[in-house]
Amino acid sequence: MTERYDILVIGGGSGGLAHAQRAAEYGAKAAVIEYGPLGGTCVNVGCVPKKVMWYAAHQAHAFHHSADYGFDVTVGGHDWPGLKARRDAYIERLNGIYERNLDNRGVTYIAGRARFVDAHTVDVDGTSYEADRIVIATGGRPMVPDIPGAELGITSDGFFELEERPQRVLIAGSGYIAVELAGVFNALGSEVQVVVRKDHILRSFDAMLSSELMDAMDKSGIDLDTGVIPASVEQTADGIVLHAEDGRTFGPVDAIVWAIGRSPNTESLDAGKAGVEQDKYGFIPTDKFQQTNVENIYALGDVTGRDALTPVAIAAGRRLADRLDGGMEGRHLDYKLIPTVIFSHPTIGTIGLTEDEARATYGNDIKTYQSGFVGMYYALGTNKKRSVMKLITAGDDEKVVGCHVIGEGADEMMQGFAVAMRMGATKKDFDDTVAIHPTSSEELVTMR
Ligand SMILES: Cc1cc2nc3c(=O)[nH]c(=O)nc-3n(C[C@H](O)[C@H](O)[C@H](O)COP(=O)(O)OP(=O)(O)OC[C@H]3O[C@@H](n4cnc5c(N)ncnc54)[C@H](O)[C@@H]3O)c2cc1C
Repeated sequence: MTERYDILVIGGGSGGLAHAQRAAEYGAKAAVIEYGPLGGTCVNVGCVPKKVMWYAAHQAHAFHHSADYGFDVTVGGHDWPGLKARRDAYIERLNGIYERNLDNRGVTYIAGRARFVDAHTVDVDGTSYEADRIVIATGGRPMVPDIPGAELGITSDGFFELEERPQRVLIAGSGYIAVELAGVFNALGSEVQVVVRKDHILRSFDAMLSSELMDAMDKSGIDLDTGVIPASVEQTADGIVLHAEDGRTFGPVDAIVWAIGRSPNTESLDAGKAGVEQDKYGFIPTDKFQQTNVENIYALGDVTGRDALTPVAIAAGRRLADRLDGGMEGRHLDYKLIPTVIFSHPTIGTIGLTEDEARATYGNDIKTYQSGFVGMYYALGTNKKRSVMKLITAGDDEKVVGCHVIGEGADEMMQGFAVAMRMGATKKDFDDTVAIHPTSSEELVTMR
């Protein structure tokens, strides 16, 4: 027998849950199919456990500055297994909350792996389900390089499974996940080496952020090697060794973490049976309304290959339901001006165009403002860390098109500036805003 729904959502992560729940609030009969724990990447092996680890690292940094503020603190050690147990318990509580949220909204939860049968039918472990609309929100997973011995390394998923802190760690990758994990290991006492293929980290971000973070990582004792193309990995008596194509070797270390990008979860979906097109990497392209090339099939979140962030997946999912089930004609997610934070040490907050992008868009009709300073938090000590802020404006009215911050508090700074920029704020609007003193963020409204 085939069960019928108005909407079948494949994937119970950030985007899928958001869409199903919003649609159900409008009265649709919706079901979510999920083979893993509810909550997807963000809750189980992404943002949430990552932020817990960032807090642990933040705490470790605070101990270093406690003497500056008159405390006589001796840190006896760090209980990684205890932290992991509390973190896992927290995530288990969240999984339960996600299941109850579905229940409260009358969304059916189908546990199992979905495969397309045709454009209206999905098979989940032998049972057929039909729906008018099918939404693909299957997310992605970490990539592992195709080199001998790669299986000796772990990915970010494996990072969250570590029962003990490895003392010597090598992280391969230059993106935000690589630098975030490097910061956590470093703060909690590991010797950390980061190897990147090109000549710098965070290549898709403003060059100022990349160079400032490379400098900060260097000062905190993280080794960074550039131009490293992994060729093979070998287990030796002393630990794991990475061999690069150019003959250099790195290690021995106790753990290698691959943070080299993510692939979409589409290979077992049989989307081709429904006629859904995928790009050469397996991502599912959509139009601005999240519609695939098949009329009744939509895709959202990481599986679309655009702005892989939780709030993006959620916003796309909710807007799709607002439009199709809530009668809000034309509603869709605008992918421009998406703010984001990197939980590095120090943190980065960024929104809008990088300087290179602004120049490519506006030519010489741009102006940049930059300010570097040591925040007051470090005023009493010797271990001082810099904050740098950069504004990029375009046109005669100096519309702010890029805002990039690295430093203490950058993570909590950017949300409000994102609202202003979405509203079209100019440099004059920034200048006319009275500063909040003493803060770091006041620098953004006092730049000349
Ligand atoms: C280490 C790390 C840190 C991150 N930190 C942040 C952060 O700080 N801030 C931020 O905004 N984003 C962060 N992200 C990104 C964020 O987690 C993702 O952008 C977000 O989870 C994407 O949501 P989604 O709904 O598209 O997919 P997912 O959350 O990945 O959900 C997809 C779900 O689909 C399920 N699934 C897949 N195939 C099938 C199938 N055939 N049948 C049934 N179920 C299936 C999967 O099991 C999964 O649960 C981080 C990611 C990682 C890896």
